[in-house]
Amino acid sequence: MNTTTAHTPRIALVTGGGSGIGRAAALRLARDGMRVAVADLDADGARATLAAIREAGGEGLAIGVDVTVGAEVAAMTDAVLRAWGRIDCAFNNAGIQEENGRMLDTPEAVFERTMAVNVKGVWLCMQAQIRLMLAQQGGGAIVNTASVAGLRGAPSMAAYSASKHAVVGLTKTAAAEYAVKGIRINAVCPGVIRTPMFERIAQADPRTAAIARKMHPIGRIGEAEEVADAVAWLFGEGASFVTGQTIAVDGGFTAS
Ligand code: NAD
Repeated sequence: MNTTTAHTPRIALVTGGGSGIGRAAALRLARDGMRVAVADLDADGARATLAAIREAGGEGLAIGVDVTVGAEVAAMTDAVLRAWGRIDCAFNNAGIQEENGRMLDTPEAVFERTMAVNVKGVWLCMQAQIRLMLAQQGGGAIVNTASVAGLRGAPSMAAYSASKHAVVGLTKTAAAEYAVKGIRINAVCPGVIRTPMFERIAQADPRTAAIARKMHPIGRIGEAEEVADAVAWLFGEGASFVTGQTIAVDGGFTAS
C-alpha cells in the first residue's frame, strides 16, 4: 500500500461528479491539488467534468458507475486503487429526487429507486471506502450529501426526506464506529441549490423558483460552489476534530 507524504497529492473520489454539486466539488478539490476520480451513472457527464479539471491544470479520472450495484461500487473503488493506490477523501454525493406530489401519490417504484440510490448507494460506497481506509496508512475522510430534507420533514418529498434522514443516520453511526481508526465522516445538508436537479423541478412547476427563494432567510437559493466550499473544508486540516456532523449549507433555511 502506498503512503502519502507532504509532497504527494491527496486522492479524492466524488460520486455524482458528472453534474451539479458533485461537479463543483470535483473541480474545487482538483483546484486544491487533489487527484480526483469523478464517478457517475452518466459517464459522459463524468468525462465532461474530467475535461474541465484537466483544462484547469488538474489531474483526474472518469468512471462510469451505478452506485446501487455492489459489484459496480467495488469496480469503481478498484479503478481508483489501480490508478493511485489509495483514497484519502470520498464524497458520496450521487442522489435523485423524483417525487412531485404528496405521499399518497408517490408510486412504489419511486420510493424504491429513491432508497436504492440515496441510501443503499451511500451505504455501499461507505462500506468499500471504510474497508480501504482501515487498510491504508493515514485513515481518511468521508463526506456524504444529505439535505435540509434530512433534518426536517419535506412536504411532497416524503421518500426523498426519508432517504436523506437515513444518510444522516449512516453518517453519524459510521462516524462513531470508525473515529478511533482515524476516519472522519460528516454530511453536508444543502438547502435549495441551483443545479440541473433544481432546474428539472423548477421546469415542472414554474412557482418553484420564487418559493425556493423565500425559504432561505438569506434571500436566494445557493450555488453548487458554496456546497463545494463546505466539502473542501470538511476534508481539510481545519476540520480535524469534526466528525459525525451534519453541516447545513442552507442560507439560514433550518435556522428559521
Ligand atoms: P444533479 O442531478 O445535478 O446531479 C446528480 C448526479 O448524480 C447526476 O450526475 C446523476 O447522473 C448522478 N447519479 C444519479 N443516480 C446515480 C447512480 N445510481 N449512480 C451514480 N450516479 C448517479 O443533482 P445535484 O443537485 O447536484 O445533487 C447532488 C446531491 O445533492 C444529491 O444527493 C441531492 O439529493 C443533493 N441535494 C441537492 C439539492 C439541490 O437543491 N440541488 C439540495 C439538497 C441536496
